[in-house]
Amino acid sequence: MRIGLFGGTFNPIHLGHIQVVHEVKEGGALDRIILIPSALPPHKEPGGVADARDRMEMIRLAIADYPDFTVSDVELERSGPSYTIDTVRHFKSALPEDTALYLILGIDAFLEIDTWKSYMDLFLLVPFIVMARTDAGDDDPVLRWQTLENYLKSRISKGYQFSASRSCHVHDEKQPVFVYNVTPVDISSTKIRQLIKKGSTIRSLVPKIVEDFIKTKGLYL
Ligand code: ATP
Repeated sequence: MRIGLFGGTFNPIHLGHIQVVHEVKEGGALDRIILIPSALPPHKEPGGVADARDRMEMIRLAIADYPDFTVSDVELERSGPSYTIDTVRHFKSALPEDTALYLILGIDAFLEIDTWKSYMDLFLLVPFIVMARTDAGDDDPVLRWQTLENYLKSRISKGYQFSASRSCHVHDEKQPVFVYNVTPVDISSTKIRQLIKKGSTIRSLVPKIVEDFIKTKGLYL
């Protein structure tokens, strides 16, 4: 079984998350995706972050039609901030030994990985799948992947070598880092929260059922 772990604040989950991770699942021949909302995001200001249980519920609603997607409350059950290293260790011990785990994340998140707790251990534990997402001023895929390569070699290890045939940076002792071009989806949770504050519609950015939940609960006003 090949399982992709996809963590984030999901404040709120949006169609960009679903679209890109679905593409990664199909393209990378993964069997299952586990979405993992973080409790107190260590990299984000706590103000403006919806209650963890509400973020979890919005994910549950959004993935109801995706049988290969599940949501995990593992980070909500732990006290204190959520660290990816603890989450990966949890799944490594909780899942059968022949499970192949992959950590899926956007390139923006990956390029900050040297600020994460025990990040060097992560490179020993789990392969990464890094998705490129569009950001203003950074829409050249060649440049973007070059940035990732430079980052890997300068901050993680000089030993990483790109294997074009596998679309992957390989290393003798560390886990591979796959790069994956996803269809650009210019949606972010930040944009959604800003639109809600302005009283604008978010209809095309989140599943209808999530929009209804946000309205009913009065989130992000
Ligand atoms: P925010 O705007 O609050 O920072 P976000 O939209 O980036 O939120 P997160 O919950 O932080 O959402 O994202 C979880 C993961 O999904 C991250 O690895 C992020 O890079 C990735 N991601 C989010 N939106 C997209 C998108 N439109 N395309 C590709 N990856 C995305």
